[in-house]
Amino acid sequence: MQYISTRGGDRKSGAAPTILAGLAGDGGLFVPADIPRVNAAQLAALRAMDYTRRAETLLGLFFEDMPQVGQCIRRAYARFDIPVRPVAPGAHVLELWRGPTAAFKDVALQFLPLALEQAKAQQNISEETVILVATSGDTGGAALNGFGRVPGMRVAAFYPKDGVSDLQRLQMTTDNGPHAWGIAVDGNFDDTQRGVKAIFSNRDIQERLAGQGYALSSANSINWGRLAPQIVYYFSAWCDLVNAGALGNDEPIDFVVPTGNFGNILAGWYAREMGLPIGRLVCASNRNHVLSDFFADGVYDARREFHKTISPSMDILVSSNLERLLFELSGRDAAAVRAMMSSLNDAGTYSVDKALLKRAQGVFDAGYAGEDATRATIRWVWEAYGYLLDPHTAVAWNVWEKGRRNHAVIVSTASPYKFASDVMASLDLPAQDGAQSQCRALYAATEFDMPQSLARLWTAPAGHNLSCGYEDMPQAVETLLGHG
Ligand SMILES: *Cc1c(COP(=O)(O)O)cnc(C)c1O
Repeated sequence: MQYISTRGGDRKSGAAPTILAGLAGDGGLFVPADIPRVNAAQLAALRAMDYTRRAETLLGLFFEDMPQVGQCIRRAYARFDIPVRPVAPGAHVLELWRGPTAAFKDVALQFLPLALEQAKAQQNISEETVILVATSGDTGGAALNGFGRVPGMRVAAFYPKDGVSDLQRLQMTTDNGPHAWGIAVDGNFDDTQRGVKAIFSNRDIQERLAGQGYALSSANSINWGRLAPQIVYYFSAWCDLVNAGALGNDEPIDFVVPTGNFGNILAGWYAREMGLPIGRLVCASNRNHVLSDFFADGVYDARREFHKTISPSMDILVSSNLERLLFELSGRDAAAVRAMMSSLNDAGTYSVDKALLKRAQGVFDAGYAGEDATRATIRWVWEAYGYLLDPHTAVAWNVWEKGRRNHAVIVSTASPYKFASDVMASLDLPAQDGAQSQCRALYAATEFDMPQSLARLWTAPAGHNLSCGYEDMPQAVETLLGHG
């Protein structure tokens, strides 16, 4: 499989060099040159498989140059359920949060480190890969867990000292392996992100590290190796629904996706292109609703106030993965994509032509939910159906209720226990201090399924407990690697 850049100036032969590169050399994102199609007979065959075999079959289409990729898939998903549950008339919930850190990022970040390890071996790359992430919560835990014990990988996750939930902090400071470091930064998320970017653009550091056998990498959500594994659960949910008799073979199904960087829902778009009978893809935003505005009028405008919300993983003004959709819906017009991205970069905004907007609206619906609506939805769904939503999933539920069309799958991206204090406030339960008390109280009040992986945190051995000022982040990396 060839991979081409959305900006027209780079291409790679095979998935191995594509996932090792991450971003394309021209600043664009890699997409498969040909989107493979899955016919009715292949869909029927998928229905008879378990999740791991479905993943092997579908990812095999994209990773054909990596014959051992099946091993990565089996290791990543052996103990990872992704069930789809009937919750309300006309709606199922797809629980993507049954991995080790109880958020949907595990689906990609359990697979990618293993795939990178294999890609390095195939390309005879012997340097140690150093993954650096700036995180406002979910990515940090998932990256530390996914990369922490993989040979040839080191991983540091920088998080704002006071900017993550108690539970997220606990996930980043328990033992994730000898080469996995969660580091509290004295600053806010922007400082943290700027600090990581400064390391990536510092040639001196990179040269010193290269001399010691290290190469920096980011593993962020624009890497094709993170997007591809997300395609699988759209197919898998459809198979499970048809197998359960909840959906006819040719009946369209809508997916409602709580969206931030546009990676999750874009994987749904690829599934649809591959032949999965998806009706509408519903893009749900929170108070930072740049995307739902874009789908309404074709103007992407990031020049607006940034709001911190109770669904922090969707607090994003620039959704990087949208670039891939623009490329496809413009008929792969790389020059048009370059123009839009430079307008975004220079002016903070761009607009698409009427034809492209029409094509987008032919597939996507979009809407948003504010903070009060999100809290009210958590409460209402709990009272009506006895199902507990986390705030991100509640945004999606609220948007679905306002515009429902076909039978829908609400894509659930986090366990409610991960955001226990906001969920408790929505249910008018008294506040508690600390992750363990919050989770216990929420369980006592609801008896809703608490993931084993979270319960294990209370007794997990402590890992590194590190902190630094945001100006000292480069030094922190060198010190950790020097002594690593
Ligand atoms: C990352 C994340 C999202 C947003 O997903 P995108 O792929 O960035 O659109 C939504 N909910 C949760 C809980 C997340 O961790």
